[in-house]
Amino acid sequence: MTGARGRGLRLAAHAGENGPGSNVREAVEAAGVERIIHGVRGAEDPALLAWLAERAIPVDICLASNRTLVPELADPADHPLPRMLRAGVRCALGTDDPGVIPCDLASEWSAARALGLTDAEMASLAENAFRDAWSLNSAL
Ligand SMILES: [Zn+2]
Repeated sequence: MTGARGRGLRLAAHAGENGPGSNVREAVEAAGVERIIHGVRGAEDPALLAWLAERAIPVDICLASNRTLVPELADPADHPLPRMLRAGVRCALGTDDPGVIPCDLASEWSAARALGLTDAEMASLAENAFRDAWSLNSAL
């Protein structure tokens, strides 16, 4: 195998933010991606959420990025993070590219709390981040 995977690197892709939710499944199945960054447009499809949950595919959420780049999510109340977590998707918070869209982890946690997540759901975000941290897990 050649390319990044052949050199021992793990694959993540931005999918389901600028493009359609179908890009999420395509990234996993066609490109062998192990981790999705964003995936929020995939939340429109309950079957896709179930598919992500069954496979325990990590999905990194950056609320600031989604608010900026997805017109349907300009109102934070419309963000699908609560629905994604309740469907069992292993979401964690991330900062995407803070050089392009200003945010930090503290602002992401505040934004997530403002969505009305329960304490258990907030804890699941932290648990998922820890469990799915590639650099941490490869060092253990
Ligand atoms: Zn992004």
